[in-house]
Amino acid sequence: MKHTEVAIIGAGVTGLAAASRLSPRNYRIFEKSRGPGGRLASKRMDAVRADIGAQFFTVRDHRFQVAVDSAVAAGFVTQWQPNMGTFRDHQPIASPDHQARFVGHPYMNSLGRFLSQDIEIQAESRVQTIEPDGDLFRLILTSQETLTADCVLVTAPVDQMVAMLQHFDVEQLGSRFAMDPTWTTVLSVEEPLRGSAGESFDALFGGDHPLFDFIAVENSKPGRQSNFIVVHATPEWSTQHLESDPAEISELIREALSETFQVTTKAKLSHRWRYARPTNPKFTAQKGIYQVSPNLWVAGDYLAGGRVEGAYLSGLEAAERILAR
Ligand SMILES: Cc1cc2nc3c(=O)[nH]c(=O)nc-3n(C[C@H](O)[C@H](O)[C@H](O)COP(=O)(O)OP(=O)(O)OC[C@H]3O[C@@H](n4cnc5c(N)ncnc54)[C@H](O)[C@@H]3O)c2cc1C
Repeated sequence: MKHTEVAIIGAGVTGLAAASRLSPRNYRIFEKSRGPGGRLASKRMDAVRADIGAQFFTVRDHRFQVAVDSAVAAGFVTQWQPNMGTFRDHQPIASPDHQARFVGHPYMNSLGRFLSQDIEIQAESRVQTIEPDGDLFRLILTSQETLTADCVLVTAPVDQMVAMLQHFDVEQLGSRFAMDPTWTTVLSVEEPLRGSAGESFDALFGGDHPLFDFIAVENSKPGRQSNFIVVHATPEWSTQHLESDPAEISELIREALSETFQVTTKAKLSHRWRYARPTNPKFTAQKGIYQVSPNLWVAGDYLAGGRVEGAYLSGLEAAERILAR
């Protein structure tokens, strides 16, 4: 049976940040999808792509700033300065601010590509279960590949982590750090999104709107040429419509946009994120990491405030713990 010193599950921001601090000789990183980036996702439609996961990220910690500065210098990340709006009494109003916002260039998952430049990922490899095996861990993949590891770091979203670690005591962790779903719809639009005073918006926070959680106009982000807008629905609305058909979701979003902005849109796709953001991002684990048992850690945004920066810092901390063991 094959053996690795460190097995990392997931090549999202958390897994990539952890791997970036370890020697490639010592770890293997398993990713169930075709490439890196996780929820920094973009989807190809009509020969162009749209960001369907995180729409932007912010930077507060100097360690993340260093990584973002390098990504900006290498052309993988750039600043985004949208005309911001929000909803009050369900109506769009301007809400300018001075927050520095960053986006991947030309798409959000460019940050994933940047972080994975020196990392060899075993893609399309879904880890089904992890079992104790004496002092080691035994990983079983859905492909039936089996390997052992001295040490394991699981960075999958919390529900997927719980499913993988059924042989360990993680149920409570799963309920404490629960995650909410998000329905995301991409639509094409020919006209700008305007408020009642005629101001046009590049992006809007949901404010008190029952359906809209965030709206982004793709071509306001550097590098995007499409006429797409991306709409994230609120966790409450997404939960209520969790099992709805994507076509039905697209229609509901299209109608809501038409009513709010008097624009004609054409829905391109609706994507359901079953595990999008933590229900309560204020619940965090110390330094965004949790040790399940000796040499077995879980890390990820859900332990660290639910954002890209939290994920990155959680991954760095995981690497520190692995190196110090
Ligand atoms: C709709 C939406 C909007 C968001 N908006 C923002 C925002 O505006 N700003 C912000 O900062 N953040 C935002 N986020 C959150 C941000 O995307 C996440 O915080 C961050 O990307 C999480 O990174 P991660 O590595 O912890 O998890 P993930 O990105 O989920 O990475 C985990 C990886 O593990 C893989 N995996 C899962 N199970 C297995 C398995 N069994 N075997 C192998 N691999 C597996 C997955 O495929 C995935 O690639 C948003 C997220 C969503 C979904």
